[in-house]
Amino acid sequence: MKAEIIAVGTELLLGQIVNTNAQYIAAGCAGIGLNVYYQTVVGDNRERLKQSFGLAASRADVVIVTGGLGPTQDDLTKDALAELLGLPMSIHEPSMEKIVSVFRSRGLDMVKSNERQANVLAGCTPLANDNGLAVGVALTHAGTHYVLLPGPPKEMKPMFDRYAVPWIRAVMGEEAAPLHSKMLKFAGIGESNLEHRLLDLIESQQDPTIAPYAKEGEVSIRLTTRAASAEEAERKLAETEREIRSRVGEYLYADRDVPLEHELVALLVRAGRTVALAESCTGGTVSEMITAVPGSSAAYRGGIVCYTNDAKRELLGVPAHVLEGEGAPGAVSAETASLLAEGAMQRIGADYALSVTGVAGPAESEGKPVGLVYVGIAERGKPPEAIPLQLSGNRDSIRLRAAKQALYALWRRLVR
Ligand code: ATP
Ligand code: MG
Repeated sequence: MKAEIIAVGTELLLGQIVNTNAQYIAAGCAGIGLNVYYQTVVGDNRERLKQSFGLAASRADVVIVTGGLGPTQDDLTKDALAELLGLPMSIHEPSMEKIVSVFRSRGLDMVKSNERQANVLAGCTPLANDNGLAVGVALTHAGTHYVLLPGPPKEMKPMFDRYAVPWIRAVMGEEAAPLHSKMLKFAGIGESNLEHRLLDLIESQQDPTIAPYAKEGEVSIRLTTRAASAEEAERKLAETEREIRSRVGEYLYADRDVPLEHELVALLVRAGRTVALAESCTGGTVSEMITAVPGSSAAYRGGIVCYTNDAKRELLGVPAHVLEGEGAPGAVSAETASLLAEGAMQRIGADYALSVTGVAGPAESEGKPVGLVYVGIAERGKPPEAIPLQLSGNRDSIRLRAAKQALYALWRRLVR
């Protein structure tokens, strides 16, 4: 089957926003073996929308549209398709009830145009919007399958993954490729180093495919295979996974798509242990990451952002002679990192503490190079330790990578 993706919005044509939705949908189509032949971008104009839909229907079996489901006058996607196909529209009652209750609970007056978000085309399968008000549409008409999705990515993605993809798979029938994939997540190792250690596997890959990619501070590998059953897929993936684990297993923190901080919090909660933070160059990023995990209050006691030397001394008890003066190790040093971690553990009363102190740039500091970072780790009953790191990238990525490295240090300590 062939598909066409149509992104609707004058903003896209003007270059005010990037068409990330098309990329997301295209990747999703590839995952189910649906071939995308064309991607189109069209402005918020009724006639041109109808033309685009008509053209797409003439050359594709599945037409996936994103954008223009909102309440305003320039949101025309449903109207244009209804007009083109000669289908009436009606109100989808459950969506209408949701819209009414959302406005009521916020104490806002509902205007007539908001009702448009509950409109659906006759004979369609409505697609629920778990993160917004505009209901989506899946419809087969004259042999063409149409899917209408909202524009905001946080609404579009869950609607596509949860409701549109299963619907598309169903209309594709046998053609939907039974693809199975598995995510392996790594921390504490860079993408190029990871790739280097797996190079022969990656170069000779066929089935399963091995796709590494990196986000700041974390590296993932997606293993994908085609198989008739989940059991067969599991068997094929397991072999490749075993080989990967034998080479870089010490950096593998999860075999599903979760961030490192989730795994770390889960480990701490399971062990009934707590952690505290003392952050300098990361300015609270590690605390932010940990507290973004639901339930982290069982494991996270608190943190101190100690940016200046005064704060390191007064709030965490690092002696002045360590921080400054002739021959002093300085704020960016193993000594300071250890003392910060020890101080945070004692003062905040946790079982473990992490600290981060370093030079995020753009300029060097204390005569130390940009990217030099020390992660301190303290554990009750043990002497604190410091891990030196030389990180690359700009200020933002150094701070992010330093934060992930701190999480990784504690994760290693806990799984050891
Ligand atoms: P709304 O109810 O917000 O009006 P909508 O379904 O009508 O939603 P649009 O009005 O087309 O969608 O777009 C709303 C916002 O969604 C845009 O301002 C933009 O931030 C985002 N968006 C729309 N289309 C895309 C796209 N193709 N890629 C990425 N973001 C998009
Ligand atoms: Mg809109």
